[in-house]
Amino acid sequence: MATITTRSAFIHGQWSTADSAQLYGIPDWGKGYVGVNSLGNVTVMPTKEPGKQVDLAEVIQGLKDRGIHTPVLLRFNDILNHRLREIRKAFDDAMKEQSYTGGYSCVYPIKVNQQRHICEQIASLAVELDFGLEAGSKPELLAVLGLSASAGGPGVNGMPIICNGFKDDEFIETVTLATKLGRNIIPVVEKWTELELIVKHAKQYGIRPKIGLRVKLSSKGAGRWESSAGVRSKFGLFVSELLQAVEYLKKHDMLDCLNLLHCHVGSQLYDIRVFKNAVNELSHIYCELVRLGAGLQYLDIGGGMGVDYDGSQSAWSSSINYTVAEYAQDVVYRIKSVCDSAKVAHPRIVSESGRAMVAYGSVLIMDVLGSSKFEASPDLVNIEKLIKEEASNGNEREVPQPVLDLLDAYKNLTERNLMEAYHDATQARDEAMSLFGLGYMSLPMRSVAEQLFWAIGHKLLEKAAKKGELPDEFENLPELLSDIYFCNFSLFQSMPDSWAIDQLFPICPIHRLGEQPMRQAILADITCDSDGKIDHFVDKREDKKTLELHDLRDLPGEGKGCEPYYLGVFLLGAYQEILGDLHNLLGDTHAVHISIDDQGEWEIEDVIEGDTVEEVLKYVQYDPEDLKRAMRKDIEAACKQGRLTLIEGKSLLKYYDDGLEGYTYLEG
Ligand SMILES: *Cc1c(COP(=O)(O)O)cnc(C)c1O
Repeated sequence: MATITTRSAFIHGQWSTADSAQLYGIPDWGKGYVGVNSLGNVTVMPTKEPGKQVDLAEVIQGLKDRGIHTPVLLRFNDILNHRLREIRKAFDDAMKEQSYTGGYSCVYPIKVNQQRHICEQIASLAVELDFGLEAGSKPELLAVLGLSASAGGPGVNGMPIICNGFKDDEFIETVTLATKLGRNIIPVVEKWTELELIVKHAKQYGIRPKIGLRVKLSSKGAGRWESSAGVRSKFGLFVSELLQAVEYLKKHDMLDCLNLLHCHVGSQLYDIRVFKNAVNELSHIYCELVRLGAGLQYLDIGGGMGVDYDGSQSAWSSSINYTVAEYAQDVVYRIKSVCDSAKVAHPRIVSESGRAMVAYGSVLIMDVLGSSKFEASPDLVNIEKLIKEEASNGNEREVPQPVLDLLDAYKNLTERNLMEAYHDATQARDEAMSLFGLGYMSLPMRSVAEQLFWAIGHKLLEKAAKKGELPDEFENLPELLSDIYFCNFSLFQSMPDSWAIDQLFPICPIHRLGEQPMRQAILADITCDSDGKIDHFVDKREDKKTLELHDLRDLPGEGKGCEPYYLGVFLLGAYQEILGDLHNLLGDTHAVHISIDDQGEWEIEDVIEGDTVEEVLKYVQYDPEDLKRAMRKDIEAACKQGRLTLIEGKSLLKYYDDGLEGYTYLEG
């Protein structure tokens, strides 16, 4: 039997904002950046100082007042700063404690989020923190070269720039010239021919390049990115090739240029043991290469530092079983002990921790457009009326027995016969459906059967909750009976990893947290793709199949919709923005940079407007002018033939024009 951890467990007692915080796990995954205030609104504390809070509901209202509608991505530069400093401090502490003398640099792989604002922010802190940037492709290299120039001052020469990924002749030539320019740039050899190109261009331009080698370790990663490492990985040199590289460089009198040894064992590594093994193996190879005369200075342990998306601090894919501090301690410890026993000077440690740097910085806020739900309490009067009508409808069809059975089961359900009632109801429902399939049941009777079945399900859950336990057989009921909340966003654009690799992101309402959420729901986006839904949610114990949400409050008047209800999706800063796609031509959302001023008030630093319809259409080669012309011609003809009045024609054309210039999402 599973214990019930849903709404029913909390029915007794007064609901408080603290109950909501606990229910959604906010302190667990929020790690001090996210909280709930006394108004029941979610707050962001960009520096983890409780005195410096941004009320998200207030921000969304403020943006609405300025004409900026949800969905909107909020970015917090201060969180980014704080994260970078946290990583810096973790390594400083570990190195101090263990008397490590080699130093540390975190190098940001811009593929994790190439948004200029984010990269500029990191570049501007890089000099102070001794951090750097990493490029994995030609376009990224060009961006990084531009960014490191703008950092100015000592950063121009000091900031390490690491180049991973496959490189061609032109790439290496660019890197060579950038070295001549004065950049501290290190191309990492992923395959043998790159080494030959580096040597060729170094000779041609008369420079002493810094060279990195990526090695295929035998230690494997674990989890989703397992294949990033190991001898069958796409990248890196075999150990035999490392030795050949040493010989080759020696022959060209460039062994002192071999500066960096690199590995990357995967992303979101949830088990610290994977790092320990990989770093251990890498350190041994490092010491061996030093012994052979390589001028090594940097030990680059790659990325992979994970993020605790579900707050469980455990070794499974949505979480990690270590903290930043533990990661730093372990890495420093392993490298130091291997180097000390080999009497090799401590290298400068480099990590390429992309996800860990930027994940916390972005939050998506989306509005709920409406919901679809099964009625918990059926309209019995109406049901009995329908049954009576069916019975008096001549003698052709009688009231089908399964319908009567369901009515009976519903009326006589007690706490004692839950299982029996469930079995009866399931059987009756199945019988009803096959009768309908054979043409022996009318549509009104089928609707009655469905309503009764759902109502029995609800009643069963309620009664089981009162007992405090959920029989295994009912385990799927909460999911089956849950509501669907339709949200104004595209899963494919804003959280593609949720679709692609079933990654979990924490989600909760950003207001009304002083009220007990009484609905269980899954979320659907506005694409027409049935994959565009979220039906797994973070939880400390195991992922939940439904999310507790508040009732939508209807606005007075027919067709007026519901009161605004906003959900926040957190920890979206890593990978999601750039992996997002234009499915259904839903484009980038607005992105707004929020910071806190000296008085502790939030302020808008920057607004980056989302794609317009025109922009996404152009992306797939439409010419908006052509489209408008075609519409105008058609409307003109319709007016001439009297199908539209001139005024109607004018309105339609205006909607079309405005639509092209507008947001790709719904603007209520
Ligand atoms: C993707 C990548 C990273 C970043 O990994 P995270 O898991 O985001 O830290 C680092 N290094 C290389 C070579 C990569 O390909």
